[in-house]
Amino acid sequence: MTAAEAAAGTARPPRIVKTPGALAPVPHLLDHAATCAAFRWDDARALLDGLPAGGLNIAHEAVDRHVAHNRGGKTAIRWLGKSGARREFSYADLAAGTSRFANALGALGVQPGERVFVLMGRLPELYLAVLGALKARCVVSPLFSAFGPEPIATRCEMGDARVLVTTPELYQRKVKGLRERLPGLKHVILVGDAVDEAGTVRWADVVDPASLDFTIGATDPETMSLLHFTSGTTGRPKGAIHVHEAVVMHAMTARYALDLHDDDVFWCTADPGWVTGTSYGIVAPLVSGVTNVVVEAEFDAPTWYSVLQDERVTVWYTAPTAIRMMMRLGADSLRGYDLSALRFMASVGEPLNPEAVWWGLDAFGKTFHDNWWQTETGGIMVSNYAAMDIKPGSMGKPLPGITAAIARRTSEGRVELIDAPDTEGELVLKTPWPSMMRGYLHEEERYRKCFADGWYFTGDLAKRDADGYYWFVGRADDVIKSAGHLIGPFEVESALMEHPAVAEAGVIGIPDPTVGEVVKAYVALKPGFEPSEALNRELLGHARKRLGAAVAPKAIEFRSNLPKTRSGKIMRRLLKARELGLPEGDLSTLESDEKR
Ligand code: ATP
Ligand code: MG
Repeated sequence: MTAAEAAAGTARPPRIVKTPGALAPVPHLLDHAATCAAFRWDDARALLDGLPAGGLNIAHEAVDRHVAHNRGGKTAIRWLGKSGARREFSYADLAAGTSRFANALGALGVQPGERVFVLMGRLPELYLAVLGALKARCVVSPLFSAFGPEPIATRCEMGDARVLVTTPELYQRKVKGLRERLPGLKHVILVGDAVDEAGTVRWADVVDPASLDFTIGATDPETMSLLHFTSGTTGRPKGAIHVHEAVVMHAMTARYALDLHDDDVFWCTADPGWVTGTSYGIVAPLVSGVTNVVVEAEFDAPTWYSVLQDERVTVWYTAPTAIRMMMRLGADSLRGYDLSALRFMASVGEPLNPEAVWWGLDAFGKTFHDNWWQTETGGIMVSNYAAMDIKPGSMGKPLPGITAAIARRTSEGRVELIDAPDTEGELVLKTPWPSMMRGYLHEEERYRKCFADGWYFTGDLAKRDADGYYWFVGRADDVIKSAGHLIGPFEVESALMEHPAVAEAGVIGIPDPTVGEVVKAYVALKPGFEPSEALNRELLGHARKRLGAAVAPKAIEFRSNLPKTRSGKIMRRLLKARELGLPEGDLSTLESDEKR
């Protein structure tokens, strides 16, 4: 029995019905099938202006054109500092600040195409540097500020960092000792109250005095724009190469998947060190001309609720790990907050357990809309929409212009599409689309292997139901083979999550001489529950009842926390390596408190 079948046996209905006519403002995508049928990429390109000098440049679309269209006075970024400081940047302010940064790069002799790495918390200068470097037609690679020296060095080396923008504190602690290893790193720009530091320049000296006027040079849409490293959930992070053309996808998905309207106040909780924090924490909202809330502080549920309330956030894009954290505290923790402005909530990064969708509905009175994409796809590919019924546990349907399918590769390397509904296979996407990665940095062979017969192979297993909804099964690497069954960890984790004691679950397969692999679950409990033999037995029984003996875990181990990437994804490969005493592999993206 699958989790979906099990859910059908409970009191919960299989779908959450939407009433599009009752929604205000009217969603951009009202009828999925009709919008997809009528969609042309030229319509998406028409959402953008194009560069006066020729071509397409992300920064022009995100910033300068709003000023040209007399929208310069509108708040582009509302920045909430850690210490309670608050700054508003209008689109005109952003245009000026990014031009200054672009001019500063020019004055330092930095050429188009050279790589600008950004390593800092969510400070306003991060946004100015990213967009300013794009104006200068440099390639941007934002790094997560919590990275230690080694991951910083590897990425800067791999990506040929020419410029690094960071803070004095991060420089002292993490970068200074690496300079000899990074001879190509010519310029380090220090933001904030920097003391004189050999081999660095101060933002205040090079950016602040620079001219506010900058004309973006002609930018071929195929010009490299961003270099993004993947989350490292399944192994060593790969560097995905993106181009300016990706902005077409960002504009289109902001409209259809996130349903952004002119007056929206948008908040994406992801850090720009990850692709979501750049594509949807910087580019998509600004391209759409909305107000983008940026929160410097690390997150906890009370901070989230205050931000949602105080900033009157209307559209919120977050992740399952955050939702599970809120679930841990319970719906009571939301009481007293006025979240009446909130219209649309979306989630990405990991499978969103059906239980989390139901919890969202109970707690917020609205549902989280799961959507699926990867660093490699550059933008949202499969999504739930404001006006489309939700089937909890499903990641929705492909975006207009995107053709998805379920497929397998034959032994001859051909692609065999699987048309039968509810049949597992690899999720594939028809190439090309504007934000498709153009390469893995220095890994040509690996890149090539992702494609066959005009399809991109995502490495994720999924199935499509008779209504065209896609269901995530698991990463190809994580799928468990037990006594002839293929078991996706997500299904088992979701069933465990239904138990009131369970806050989080991570499921792996352990080699077994008789059945191939047996299912083992690691479980973190909600406050108020203590690990015990009795609870262990109860959870095993609950899982067996929900999933059947063949799929249910044979063993459960309690953990206070599960190992996760810094972007909040459960690292099953690490659970497995530790269980089996195998090498732990690349840990550069592991949350530090999980390191041993
Ligand atoms: P690496 O490729 O280095 O192992 P990663 O795949 O986690 O790391 P990302 O590109 O950040 O790196 O994440 C994309 C992956 O996250 C997807 O391939 C998928 O496995 C998972 N994912 C993202 N969104 C969803 C979703 N809505 N449902 C299920 N899985 C999702
Ligand atoms: Mg991946």
